[in-house]
Amino acid sequence: MRVHILGSGSEGNATVLESAQQRILIDAGFGVRNLAQRLKSVGIEPESISALIVTHEHQDHVRGAGAAARRWNLPVYATAGTLKSKPTGDVGRGTGESAMPVSVAIEPTAGRKKKRIVKHVVDTRTEVQLDDFTIRFIRAPHDAREPVSLIATVKSTGERVGIAYDIGHITERFISHFTEVDVLLVESNHDEAMLRTGPYPWSLKQRVAGPNGHLSNAECGLMAKACVHRGLRHLVLCHLSKVNNKPDMALRAMRSALKGTGFRGSLQAAPQDRALTLGGVAQMELAL
Ligand SMILES: [Zn+2]
Ligand SMILES: [Zn+2]
Repeated sequence: MRVHILGSGSEGNATVLESAQQRILIDAGFGVRNLAQRLKSVGIEPESISALIVTHEHQDHVRGAGAAARRWNLPVYATAGTLKSKPTGDVGRGTGESAMPVSVAIEPTAGRKKKRIVKHVVDTRTEVQLDDFTIRFIRAPHDAREPVSLIATVKSTGERVGIAYDIGHITERFISHFTEVDVLLVESNHDEAMLRTGPYPWSLKQRVAGPNGHLSNAECGLMAKACVHRGLRHLVLCHLSKVNNKPDMALRAMRSALKGTGFRGSLQAAPQDRALTLGGVAQMELAL
């Protein structure tokens, strides 16, 4: 299995999960042209993707969803709340985001030439069965209508990927879902001191740090520490704030949180402006 994180942060999130038999896209938070370029940069033909899973309706997760689904014939899987919602700005993006045109939404706009998008409603009680992936959804505490985190299992190999970003706080119950994954993508949004002393208005600081906002580096460390096990091969810090965080700070906080846990996998921070591939040939050879 390979995981291509096409970019992560408040300006856009999208990840391709790739098994020997199937490729699926998790979130499409970049405009469709940008998304196509990022896919090209990791050697993926957009038409080879067979499904789009959307975690919630914030623009940094759905910006290109409608256009990508139509252009590449992707069925969309999302919760009823997400499918019903118009795209909104993510927590911490201020008000500018809401000015994005609704035509990029998952919901098709009126117009005879618009191709219909096949939509599948998912929930946290049932698993979604795709050709070579099983997807389990976990309700995420976040300022959206019905947001989810997820665990994807490759049917042919049993490999598991956990994706947990845009979560305001962690609970033992939430963490318990992510304790046996091979790859964990987890949010490390902000440094608490940088957020506190940074330029955001007070109300926005409260929302970002609040129970339905985003995980801080320290909270991310607690989550990762609780999830570490011998089989965890890749830990990737995602959704880093450009304003309230720095990759080296997030990585330092995580290294310190992982001390004494015996974690022996790779630790990286996902960039916003380019793709990051996990499980490539070189990394698989190293793992042997
Ligand atoms: Zn987001
Ligand atoms: Zn969000």
